[in-house]
Amino acid sequence: MPLMKSWIDSANFADCPFPLNNLPFGIMSRKDRDGRRCAVAIGDHALDLASLGETGFFGSQDVASAFTEEVLNGFLKLGRPVWLTVRKQLQDALSADASDMLRQTLGECLVPLGDVTMHLPLNITGYSDFFAGYHHAVNTGKIIRGTESLPPNWLHMPIAYNGRTSTIVTSGTPVRRPLGQTRTGEEAPRFQPCQTLDFELEMAAVVGRGSELGEPIAPEDAEDMIFGYTLLNDWSARDIQRWEYQPLGPFLGKAFATTMSPWIVMKEALEPFRRDVDPPKSPLLPYLAGYGSVYDIELAVDLKPSGRDQYETIATSNHKYLYYSAAQALVHHAIGGCRMDEGDILGSGTISGPRPEQYGSLLELSWGGTKPLKLSSGDERSYLEDGDSLVLTGNAKGDGYTIGFGTCEGTIMPSPQSVGRSVHWS
Ligand code: MN
Repeated sequence: MPLMKSWIDSANFADCPFPLNNLPFGIMSRKDRDGRRCAVAIGDHALDLASLGETGFFGSQDVASAFTEEVLNGFLKLGRPVWLTVRKQLQDALSADASDMLRQTLGECLVPLGDVTMHLPLNITGYSDFFAGYHHAVNTGKIIRGTESLPPNWLHMPIAYNGRTSTIVTSGTPVRRPLGQTRTGEEAPRFQPCQTLDFELEMAAVVGRGSELGEPIAPEDAEDMIFGYTLLNDWSARDIQRWEYQPLGPFLGKAFATTMSPWIVMKEALEPFRRDVDPPKSPLLPYLAGYGSVYDIELAVDLKPSGRDQYETIATSNHKYLYYSAAQALVHHAIGGCRMDEGDILGSGTISGPRPEQYGSLLELSWGGTKPLKLSSGDERSYLEDGDSLVLTGNAKGDGYTIGFGTCEGTIMPSPQSVGRSVHWS
């Protein structure tokens, strides 16, 4: 599919992340109005859907009132036929062929992106993070467990841990270095700020239609239940994680911040970049076999070391490297009867490619701290330091256009200086 031309000129450039082909959904606030508002991004503008709904544009009171909510859950509840109708209405009205009257109506609801603040787009009641990247799973086996083998369950199901929705934050939210319990070798456990703070390059699938408690999701329904995708940084405190994770999995090492990109890109916008997951290396049980999509989305990790003013790309990868699709993750999640809700997010797990420059975490990039990254600024990094800023980006490159997600940024803040019974860290 070629670029869909818009009457908003800035949307027609090949490197603009928000062309008419994209129209991602988010939640913004604007300086000149109260409250948070549903929006789509187009070119260098956000279209205020709450204001647009007041004009009667959507021809549906349900849609107009869903867009007055401060999260997208109400819109998700309306279901896929409505999502697609709204997408088509907006694409028609923003297209270069749109009438003067439509241009006038929508023009009054446009706000420059530079004048808006983005917020978490969803009321997230469930967040699970998978481990669906093959290369990441292989690498962590070698680095952490000292083995060439994958965990015995890995080739049979997409494994995951249940995350905390309370720590999901939007791009730009500072990330406080966590305090916690760590242990080195056979020494006594210590309580201290995390010494090995890491990022994880991931994407999240947003569940658009939920399921009932006790009811598995039919494999053929799963793709249809996914509304779209965002970028996700699953910040990880490796030393805390390493000491706590056996036998129940990650806990506080991943429960201090998880950063989401501000815009949710609908599955439809990614359709030209869709591909089937690679055939499994080992046969899967029938409920997981033979379906699911990944996407040709170029991912990048940029680091700005503390005290510097330039970002430097430290890794590039691609969504297509995932071994399990989001649909497989969703089916597996619900197979025992776990209810899924609109607005739930499923993290993919770290998306590493096969080559060292494609590793999606510092754990892998520095090989467990044994090979510090040498940056062009002259700095070296095994793990993140206070003041470091990290940005994840994702771009799907089409015929004369780009589908982007907005940036997924976080800057590391020092750990709390005191806690509990006046313990001070200097
Ligand atoms: Mn993760």
